[in-house]
Amino acid sequence: MYNITFIPGDGIGPEISVATKRVIEATGVDIRWDIHEAGQEVFEKEGTPLPQKVIDSIEKNRVALKGPITTPVGMGFRSVNVTLRQNLDLYCCLRPCKTFKGTRTRYEDVDLAIIRENTEDLYAGIEFEKGSEDTKKLIDFIIGSTEKIIRPDSGISIKPISVYATERIVSFAFEYARKNKRKKVTAVHKANIMKCSDGLFLETARNVAKRYPDIQFEDRIVDNMCMQLVQKPELYDVIVLPNLYGDIISDLAAGLIGGLGLAPGVNLGEEVAVFEPAHGSAPKYKGLNKVNPLAMILSGVMMLRHLGEIEAARRLEGAVASVIEEGRYVTYDMKPTPDDPTAATTSMVADAIIEKLT
Ligand code: NAD
Repeated sequence: MYNITFIPGDGIGPEISVATKRVIEATGVDIRWDIHEAGQEVFEKEGTPLPQKVIDSIEKNRVALKGPITTPVGMGFRSVNVTLRQNLDLYCCLRPCKTFKGTRTRYEDVDLAIIRENTEDLYAGIEFEKGSEDTKKLIDFIIGSTEKIIRPDSGISIKPISVYATERIVSFAFEYARKNKRKKVTAVHKANIMKCSDGLFLETARNVAKRYPDIQFEDRIVDNMCMQLVQKPELYDVIVLPNLYGDIISDLAAGLIGGLGLAPGVNLGEEVAVFEPAHGSAPKYKGLNKVNPLAMILSGVMMLRHLGEIEAARRLEGAVASVIEEGRYVTYDMKPTPDDPTAATTSMVADAIIEKLT
């Protein structure tokens, strides 16, 4: 039996979590779910959106399955997702983006693995608020030491990129490529403009690449990468990026395979793995039993593989693939138009998958 930490999340989280739990249970794999809440409602009750007991549970079980959690914009608590990644040192976010037959998308045969550094860059949380004493000191220091102008009414976010974190993520990308018989790793950056941060990322990536002569290596500037992916995604294979570009390109890649409702993911550390869909909590759809549960279900497939339950993972993925190919029990986002009256509900998708499994 496996002990798995289960965080349903908020917004659409609880409904896709129920669907995911049901289909995983239908595979017959014996799991004891250690269920925990996190987010806005917990913040109101306990004064923190991420109680220590949630982190303790993940550390103990080493594997978690998580629904999306809303982050208040501009003010309020810091992102639970970012805090989790930093507290547990989940340094890698892996998002495989593969087209399923029958999906309505502009592209066929997309098969990308997006590997995003998760701990630093502009997500490091080093922020200086407009008008604060520290911000004034920082601005004075920058003007004094660089002679660059920063307006006094500026807010500042710091972008640290280290050799340590870059070596770790790029090595992961190459190891992933080897293990999964992939041919090429592409590193993405804006080193022409941010020489000290992205320049260091690129230089470090090139050094790591020398240790993997069996895997092809190339780099792309992030704006060019966006255009290339939209025009010819089939040219790319494993893509490794710093945190912010990774966030953006992950959503772009999700768009290539039919939308966020189909894009699974995992945040990995040395010891711990937290599986979660690429999308957020889509609050406007909360409680409607309407959204696509497949991104979270496919995250569950990744989790089963991680646990070594290869046969169960294969069966569940096969059931998902056949439900998609039949095209009947799929949600509104996978129908020809979003108001298609034949769109299935979230729970109907789970029912259809379970029927294939049993
Ligand atoms: P979102 O991913 O929640 O939703 C954007 C749009 O994508 C939705 O309006 C919907 O049209 C579509 N969509 C998303 N998931 C879908 C699904 N399962 N099925 C069908 N359509 C789907 O992005 P957002 O609106 O920018 O973010 C909402 C909240 O989620 C924010 O607070 C954000 O911080 C948070 N967020 C959390 C995570 C996480 O928990 N890991 C990730 C991203 C965003």
